[in-house]
Amino acid sequence: MNTLIVEDEKSLSHEIEIFLTREGFNCDVAFTGKSASEKIYVNNYDFILLDIGLPDMNGLDILREAKEANSESSFIILTARGSVEDKVAGLGLGADDYLAKPFSLLELQARMQAVLRRKHGLQKNTIKVHDFEIDIQNRTITQSGKNVPLTKKEFDILNYLILHKNRVLTRMQLTEHIWGDILEDDYESNYIDVHIKNLRKKLSAFTNVDWIETVRGIGYRVNV
Ligand code: CA
Repeated sequence: MNTLIVEDEKSLSHEIEIFLTREGFNCDVAFTGKSASEKIYVNNYDFILLDIGLPDMNGLDILREAKEANSESSFIILTARGSVEDKVAGLGLGADDYLAKPFSLLELQARMQAVLRRKHGLQKNTIKVHDFEIDIQNRTITQSGKNVPLTKKEFDILNYLILHKNRVLTRMQLTEHIWGDILEDDYESNYIDVHIKNLRKKLSAFTNVDWIETVRGIGYRVNV
């Protein structure tokens, strides 16, 4: 998951970044509203963790601006304890959740998982695809209790395809999601194809069904 952490308190943003990176997220950090706006304009983030009290801007303005631009990112706003107006305003503007500081990183992760489940209409953290089970929190895929050994990138690609099942994802969408901040030239590259090829090979050791469909000239789709 491609995540932007907008937080001017450097020790806090660093702490969040280290924690989420360890949990398998790709993190990008902005310390000012201006920097956050620029990053949101050029990247597609799955999550934006947004501090309201930024040095140059109110975080709510960034949320408003992103929503007006039809951003599909999920927003969790980070507010000072007790600022009810900020919470209400943030939720009213379309934030998915909020956390009052100080918060525990485990709670942040649990909230992010809950937002992800709501966004994709899931009841729990596991998704069944054919006879495989994908655990989006523990980042594992198993078949009858047997673990399918995937690299981080392979898991990220498969997880993203499964969350958007029955929908074609373009190479660009997948590349952006997996590598985050990338150069335009990379869109033409075949990194994704190489990873998909390896994924198929690993899955084929467990099943005869190839459920990752190649949509010629566009991208890939997981059919369920
Ligand atoms: Ca702040």
